Amino acid sequence: MMNIKDNLSHIHQQIAYACKQANRDIEQVQLLAVTKTKPCDLIEQAYLAGQRQFGESYVQESIEKIAALAHLSDIEWHFIGPIQSNKTRAIATNFSWVHSVDRVKIASRLNEQRCGQDTSLNICLQVNISDEESKSGVSVDELLTLAQYVSNCENLTLRGLMAIPDKNASKTVFDQMFTLYHDLKTKYPTIDTLSMGMSNDLSLAVQSGSTMVRVGSAIFGQRN
Ligand SMILES: *Cc1c(COP(=O)(O)O)cnc(C)c1O
Repeated sequence: MMNIKDNLSHIHQQIAYACKQANRDIEQVQLLAVTKTKPCDLIEQAYLAGQRQFGESYVQESIEKIAALAHLSDIEWHFIGPIQSNKTRAIATNFSWVHSVDRVKIASRLNEQRCGQDTSLNICLQVNISDEESKSGVSVDELLTLAQYVSNCENLTLRGLMAIPDKNASKTVFDQMFTLYHDLKTKYPTIDTLSMGMSNDLSLAVQSGSTMVRVGSAIFGQRN
């Protein structure tokens, strides 16, 4: 049987080790537990082990789980999946963070539909850093325009950048993301998050300066 608590502590150890190698403070790296396709009882086990930040990728599935887990009132939900424009309202009203904003149209809808909530919606811009095949992510050329747009949205807070480097991406790709993040941070003081690193590349990502790793299968097991 899978022990979620042990898996979480193993990931924390891995993060700590990577921080040590890179001379970074472990406080600078947060763990987002990715629970797409996984049932609520596994999320509750992670919650009981102290995990509070959770990531989901599919809108319909996630809003059902968020409703079912509403009693865990200090969970912070992050949307990390591709965004279709007809799903933005559900995202704007159910989540605290969105990591996958990659175009003005989506940012504009999220801003409008977040109106009336107590807090602004935290936004990371997804950057298409390493591959031509994936259609997700803003190109490096268009990143500044999108950042400027989001920073002017009343109900959004620009928090940083997100990337999903290719499976075999070299450390150079991770370092390039850090440079983009670092440069943008000097322009926008609300930026404090580089969302990068998954089960198989989290050490590399932390060594390059990631501040939030998104880990699914290494905690909850393989997805079908
Ligand atoms: C599924 C997913 C993850 C988690 O991937 P694992 O390899 O299971 O750790 C991280 N980020 C995004 C955007 C995802 O869709």
